[in-house]
Amino acid sequence: STSVLWFRRDLRLGDHPALLAAAADGDVLPLFVVDPALWGPSGDVRRTYLLRSLRALDADLGGALVVERGDPADVVARAAARVGARRVHVTADAGPYGRRRDDAVEQALAGHERELVRTGTPYAIGPGTILNGSGKPFQVFTPFSRAWNEHGWPAPADDPGRVTWVGEGEGVDGAHWPAEPDLGDLELPEAGERAAHERWEDFLEHAVAGYGEERNRPDHDGTSQLSHALKWGELHPRTLLAGLRRKRSAGADMFRTELCWRDFYADVLWNRPDTAREYYKPQLAGLRYAEPGEQFRAWAEGRTGYPIVDAGMRQLRAVGWVHNRVRMIVASFLVKDLHVEWQHGGREFMHWLRDGDLASNMHGWQWVAGSGTDASPFFRVFNPVTQGQKFDPDGDYVRRYVPELRHLPGKVAHTPWEAADGYAHGYPERIVDHAEERRVALDEYARVKG
Ligand code: FAD
Repeated sequence: STSVLWFRRDLRLGDHPALLAAAADGDVLPLFVVDPALWGPSGDVRRTYLLRSLRALDADLGGALVVERGDPADVVARAAARVGARRVHVTADAGPYGRRRDDAVEQALAGHERELVRTGTPYAIGPGTILNGSGKPFQVFTPFSRAWNEHGWPAPADDPGRVTWVGEGEGVDGAHWPAEPDLGDLELPEAGERAAHERWEDFLEHAVAGYGEERNRPDHDGTSQLSHALKWGELHPRTLLAGLRRKRSAGADMFRTELCWRDFYADVLWNRPDTAREYYKPQLAGLRYAEPGEQFRAWAEGRTGYPIVDAGMRQLRAVGWVHNRVRMIVASFLVKDLHVEWQHGGREFMHWLRDGDLASNMHGWQWVAGSGTDASPFFRVFNPVTQGQKFDPDGDYVRRYVPELRHLPGKVAHTPWEAADGYAHGYPERIVDHAEERRVALDEYARVKG
């Protein structure tokens, strides 16, 4: 008989337990649903990347992918009815919206005696699985990571062998296929499972050993740049963990820890779905913040007058990705120098990031704001100048994204106010004085702490 495989954040054919489950039923209809609730808030970069990833998936399916648009509860039920499928297979979604949506789809299917079958998750270990000695979720990272390592991860799933795909073949470029946004001269990395594998194998071969030292350097290409591939499931972390076992080194250990952070934040959001918006630690909810206005727009558009902050925010718009160190610096600047609440920054990031992921993003922001798990204490305020000088020591990162500073040599790019011709090419003056705003933030913190 025929079943449906509804693709969501698992746009690959290798290491795919839900595909194995579907193939065991017989023929498979491969379906993707453009859900207005998710498509609407996405920025052009994420939309474009998704469309290209779907196009690559469709090619791997021999053109069988069916793309529909609409409320999944209607669309999935209709697709299942069309091919007479008793079962719709999915990789379980762990996010708050995805869980509600899947429950609604499950109900819609049950009305017609059809079943939603969840197999696997986008994580090494399914959110909600790892518990402490008292059967409760962990609230800090280190003990979670110990338990995560002790639990161990499954090996990559078997190859499904020959699958008969029964799509109608009019999905991609058909009536429901959204037009690709015009991204101007923005260049995205190649999308799709094959490109992600190549990037991973290359990283494993040449870069993972040096990852420990290189990962903090935004001016170098020292990280994997696989977050978007993990977000869309072009690669599964199981595949990466198996690869790391082949290439043991201190860098590989460090990289495994980063994958554990990804699992941890998904686990936290699973247990506390409210923390996509609300403070994980409510102690800081009483801080007074400014409404996002002109200064917020200057931050978002990379016009704050602080070079590393502006380079980061322009990188966000230029390529839909920002180096982790710089994400922390720009986030700290918004929260502590401009006194804008973290949720506004989180939403801005989600709009632009090609790897935009609710759990990692909102908890990354909460960490910076001092309200998350393992949070850096609120009083630790990033200095955007010394951070820039330390992690982009030659100013190369700043010059790459801020053309108005390209005439400044070396690390002078971080302090245009110290150069005679610093503002010769239209770079904006600093919109706030960091030392002053740091004091304001700390006074406010002292008020709340009482
Ligand atoms: P690598 O250094 O190569 O790391 C490998 C993988 O580990 C990443 O692809 C990612 O899946 C995972 N990882 C690494 N660091 C973290 C981390 N701190 N938390 C969770 N997972 C991590 N990551 C996202 O995937 N999506 C987001 O929306 C996101 N928003 C963030 C917002 C803020 C304010 C901060 C501080 C961090 C955010 N991160 C987010 C985490 C991190 O910045 C990115 O995962 C990383 O920069 C992606 O680049 P990479 O693939 O080269 O990472």
